[in-house]
Amino acid sequence: MEYDLIVRSGRVVDGSGMPSYLADVGIKGGKVVELGRIKSGAEQTIDAGGLVVAPGFIDHHTHMDAQVLWDPYATSEPENGFTSVIMGNCGLTLAPVKSGGEDALVKSFVRVEAIPRSVLEQGVPWGWRSYGDYLDALEGKLGINVGGLVGHIAIRQYAMGEESVEREAGQGEIAEMCMEVRSALEAGALGFSTNRNVRHVREDGKPVASRLASEEELFALFDVVAEFNSGVIQTILGGGNRRERFAFYQELARRTQRPVIWGGVSHRWTSPDLWREQLDALGSTFGAGYRPYGVAHSIPGIRHFTLKNAQVFDEFPEWKKVMFMPEGERKKALADPGVRARLRDDLKDPRPTDFHRRWDIVQVEKVANGENEKYSGKSVEEVARMRGEDPLDAFLNLALEEDLDTTFLNVNSNGDPQAMGEILRSPYLLIGSSDAGAHVQYRADFGYATTLLALWVRKRGVLSLEQAVNKLTFFVASVYGLEGRGLVRPGYAADLVVFDPDTVDACEPEWAHDYPGGTKRMIQRSVGVHHTIVNGRVIFSDGHLSGDLPGQVLRNSACRRAGAAPLG
Ligand SMILES: [Zn+2]
Repeated sequence: MEYDLIVRSGRVVDGSGMPSYLADVGIKGGKVVELGRIKSGAEQTIDAGGLVVAPGFIDHHTHMDAQVLWDPYATSEPENGFTSVIMGNCGLTLAPVKSGGEDALVKSFVRVEAIPRSVLEQGVPWGWRSYGDYLDALEGKLGINVGGLVGHIAIRQYAMGEESVEREAGQGEIAEMCMEVRSALEAGALGFSTNRNVRHVREDGKPVASRLASEEELFALFDVVAEFNSGVIQTILGGGNRRERFAFYQELARRTQRPVIWGGVSHRWTSPDLWREQLDALGSTFGAGYRPYGVAHSIPGIRHFTLKNAQVFDEFPEWKKVMFMPEGERKKALADPGVRARLRDDLKDPRPTDFHRRWDIVQVEKVANGENEKYSGKSVEEVARMRGEDPLDAFLNLALEEDLDTTFLNVNSNGDPQAMGEILRSPYLLIGSSDAGAHVQYRADFGYATTLLALWVRKRGVLSLEQAVNKLTFFVASVYGLEGRGLVRPGYAADLVVFDPDTVDACEPEWAHDYPGGTKRMIQRSVGVHHTIVNGRVIFSDGHLSGDLPGQVLRNSACRRAGAAPLG
């Protein structure tokens, strides 16, 4: 047989953003070898008729550092079409570490990333010292490809021990940190991450180590990445105002000439033009030739609520008072004209709030009584017009008629299709971020790619399938310097996802008890993802993980070139 695997008759969306086309994909030795009408046979054939064949998605913002040690697939990544993940974000890594320093790293992960301590104690088989040792420990044990940034918190703890959470570093310590960052990059780290977020503390209430770094230390470490001339710098800044922070990122991008990854750009109804301001500012920095990439989230900030359980209004004192009353009393209060007048005044308070106070955005999602079906899917403003009432009255009266069982839907962020189209298409923004492996008992955003394809491509049409796939694949590979990945082209790694563009979507997150010790966490399944293929081998097929371990550690190109040099 000439090929190991042929994926036949699919629509190839190749990751470049170019128009898709019908072709077979021939794979041998983990790489795409041939595209088009392939006559020869293969050991294994996948029929992709009616389906899309795309490069596997790359999840660039994860905290999978621990999970990949007990879960080689980094579930639920393959289920959502991901073939590669990048970990070590926000300054947090499990290496480098000196003997006895392990627990200090656990302390940061437990609090900042909300991974239960018992899970880390049972699931992390310590033993490595350098960042390279840690990457080596993963080699051969992965189902999915894994790359990592080296984290400032571990670097600082390594050089200073527990004093890293007490004080600024001295010259000698800064020099040691620089050496460790350098050695991590030489071993293949995809960059360096730091964390200045003022809310980020350890389990013991002390600040995470990186927050105590002086500007001198920070720039010394950033300069190591610049000098190495490979890898990204990922940052979370705290303190100062948004503009000051933004100026810092721009300066950093200029000084290092490396891709700098900073925080999120989103559309919020409460500051509906901020995103445009941010994109304009990014445009001028990119225009000058520097790369401070922002991150956009594809999942809208949706809340479903009834007036039995609503928290949407808790920031308004009168509303909060009423919402905390026992149900019987609450119903009486909501019907009382005097109370209603106060609720109305509450919403008129001009101070900025999270809730946008717009009845054209709050929707009736599900009615409780059949006769009200005509209101389903309508905004409260439309319902008010249909009933000849004022919106607030319509909202409260409908809920009262249905014994407070009407389900409403509200979107505070990332809901405006026009703004989201511009944000998601922006060449200055990565699309992410799952934060997968973190906050495991609070949220699961593994489905940001499947949501992008379902909501923003199929339902809203704000970007084409080709554009969306590009943003999930080659775009990420290019920013992070992942050579030979992110395109379906001869010579590229055969990391592929085969999905149905008419049905692909993310499911609601659900509970699983699959963390070490049977600890529960949230996972997220998908629909319409038929096959996920890593380095030419199928790891996920029609709902099942294969058990195969074809994943590789993704190392930066400078390291790979150095490694390849002796072979000529
Ligand atoms: Zn993070």
